[in-house]
Amino acid sequence: MSHTPQTTAEKTGPQTEAEHAGHMKAIQADMRAKLEATREKRGLVIVHTGNGKGKSTAGFGMVARMLAHKRKCAVIQFIKASNDAVAKLLAGPNLRWHHVGEGFTWDTQNRDADIAQCRAGWQLALDYMRDPEITLIDLDEINVVLDLGYLSVDEVLAALRQKRPDQHIVCTGRNAPAALIELADLVTEMREIKHPFNTGVQAQAGIEF
Ligand code: ATP
Ligand code: MG
Repeated sequence: MSHTPQTTAEKTGPQTEAEHAGHMKAIQADMRAKLEATREKRGLVIVHTGNGKGKSTAGFGMVARMLAHKRKCAVIQFIKASNDAVAKLLAGPNLRWHHVGEGFTWDTQNRDADIAQCRAGWQLALDYMRDPEITLIDLDEINVVLDLGYLSVDEVLAALRQKRPDQHIVCTGRNAPAALIELADLVTEMREIKHPFNTGVQAQAGIEF
């Protein structure tokens, strides 16, 4: 097993050799107990939210991992964003990549058109949820869409509750609704500590897009 779940026995800071050995033994026992207790395998609802950077990137990382396992994935990008380079890199027979909300900008919002595009994206998501070949669906920025009220939280949650147990669904974006966080199995909040944008540094290839 290559994963390393967090253990309650973890402690940081300098240690003597004896302290280190004891600490490692405690971690080992703790991890073994935890791994023993984790026998179930099932599809997850995953949420990446918060104001810090890395939510979409982490979603694309999961897509890349799933593709590495030769499983089929679908990505639906709900808001205008230039991740086309990633789409091109990952492109292949196992990936469906959609970009809805092409005209979606913060400056010139056309609310009705934006809502229509979000609904079209959500319809695609529902289609992929029914497609037995698709193992992972990445709904990039859907949290923002829900926060804006462009899709109904109740409608999306109802579909997620019916999710097939063999499928993972990733929902990224700031301001994930509390009810989605409640329903999800895996929730990570990216917390901003620093962002170069705040010191006048532009978005850069490979870092932002
Ligand atoms: P990424 O796409 O790099 O994984 P993200 O999905 O967490 O970031 P979003 O909230 O979707 O971030 O914002 C998209 C864009 O805004 C990215 O170019 C990102 O670098 C930038 N961004 C993210 N966090 C911040 C921040 N705290 N301040 C300013 N810009 C940010
Ligand atoms: Mg994002």
